[in-house]
Amino acid sequence: MLKGKSVLLKSAQRLVSTQGPVLSTPSAQAVPASDPGLNYTFNETQRELQQLLRKFTKDEIIPKASEFDKTMAFPWEILKKAWGLGLTTTFVPEKYGGQGFGTVEGCIAAEEFSYGCSGILTAITGSGLAAAPVLLGGNEAQKKKFVGRLCEEPIVASYCVTEPGAGSDVAGLKTRAEKKGDEWILNGQKMWITGAGVASWYFVLARTNSDPKVPTNRAFTGFLVEAGTPGLTVGRKEINMGQRCSDTRGVTFEDVRVPQENVLGETGAGFKIAMGAFDKTRPPVAAGAVGLAQRALDEATKYALERKTFGTEIINHQAVAHLLADMAINIEVSRLMMYRSAWEIDQGRRNTYFASIAKAIAGETANKAAADAVQIFGGNGFNTEYPVEKLMRDAKIFQIYEGTTQIQKLVIARELVGRFKQNM
Ligand SMILES: Cc1cc2nc3c(=O)[nH]c(=O)nc-3n(C[C@H](O)[C@H](O)[C@H](O)COP(=O)(O)OP(=O)(O)OC[C@H]3O[C@@H](n4cnc5c(N)ncnc54)[C@H](O)[C@@H]3O)c2cc1C
Repeated sequence: MLKGKSVLLKSAQRLVSTQGPVLSTPSAQAVPASDPGLNYTFNETQRELQQLLRKFTKDEIIPKASEFDKTMAFPWEILKKAWGLGLTTTFVPEKYGGQGFGTVEGCIAAEEFSYGCSGILTAITGSGLAAAPVLLGGNEAQKKKFVGRLCEEPIVASYCVTEPGAGSDVAGLKTRAEKKGDEWILNGQKMWITGAGVASWYFVLARTNSDPKVPTNRAFTGFLVEAGTPGLTVGRKEINMGQRCSDTRGVTFEDVRVPQENVLGETGAGFKIAMGAFDKTRPPVAAGAVGLAQRALDEATKYALERKTFGTEIINHQAVAHLLADMAINIEVSRLMMYRSAWEIDQGRRNTYFASIAKAIAGETANKAAADAVQIFGGNGFNTEYPVEKLMRDAKIFQIYEGTTQIQKLVIARELVGRFKQNM
């Protein structure tokens, strides 16, 4: 795998200089070296990274997206290629073998991959969600061993929090861990776990204090569990509405023994670590939604310029043009919020408020854009021979995973009230 920013970008230059940028975008102006104040341009490194990702998406993802949607096979070959270029480990600090980029660069990657196929995006970058709690709450040995492994070989890791009876209400989860000597014994069941069937290790949140009076932020602990540990069973692959090549399964824990050294942070600190990870991962999820919405807009625009009714291209019917304009409005706003939320955390500031706004608006935008693209395609839009029905199926999950739109609104309202009271 290519290690470090400079090596990745040299490879980007080689790849891109042979063929030039792949998909068209407004060209970015160079940012003045002096303090630019408020500005909306990527720096040179980010532009090079974006070009590499566009070329990769055009060559490796777009031609294969439909096939992976149909077969629902896990896209190992694409994961291996992306990993080989360092594109799946941009967020990992260089000292653990990654590229050491920030959340903004992770969002650039997610937006570009998702333009090609958001199912492949989830399949090849889902490990970022498992790595986030380790980077947030793990010790050096754990970061090196578990996150470092993602850079040593093209493997997958899973984040196991949701259960059949607890998704939005994380504090209601029932998986338990009890300490016996130097080990912990895990029992319980997780559901809807991305990458579960192909994962090499799992981040697992379990209740470690059975007293219901103990506050949530002291009742749960995070564990790192190796695949293949006796008692850990992975369920059948779930057949989902969209993002069908992403591997989603249940995971059962029956007397699974986990060594003390695999406890993440302090005993009882798991809830905070598991939820804190979302500040890093919600911006890239929003980016995935934006990438999908942009694809819907591009496909719909192309079609509206070609398809004729009543003697003219349908773009000339104002009702159609306004659908496209509405898509553009929502996409531009979502993209701004998504990069704002990523930029905030890269500045070292708490971004919970912005991350939830970005996730909520981008999830809604992806769904509206995909549904309107289907509308613009008319009957063809409803058919699997055309690209937009897949976009509509794939979009739905952006309103559900990593917290539903309703849960984002709860977070936004809580943060809003906190800010309001602070300013009173
Ligand atoms: C494809 C897929 C991949 C996933 N990947 C992972 C993964 O890798 N790891 C993981 O841990 N989980 C994963 N999930 C789980 C996902 O995060 C949950 O499905 C999601 O958080 C919703 O939880 P739930 O399904 O239990 O719905 P519920 O919590 O039962 O919610 C049902 C409905 O009620 C609404 N609702 C619930 N509570 C409130 C409230 N207080 N106020 C207003 N409305 C409310 C919800 O918004 C929703 O509309 C995945 C799910 C899917 C489908």
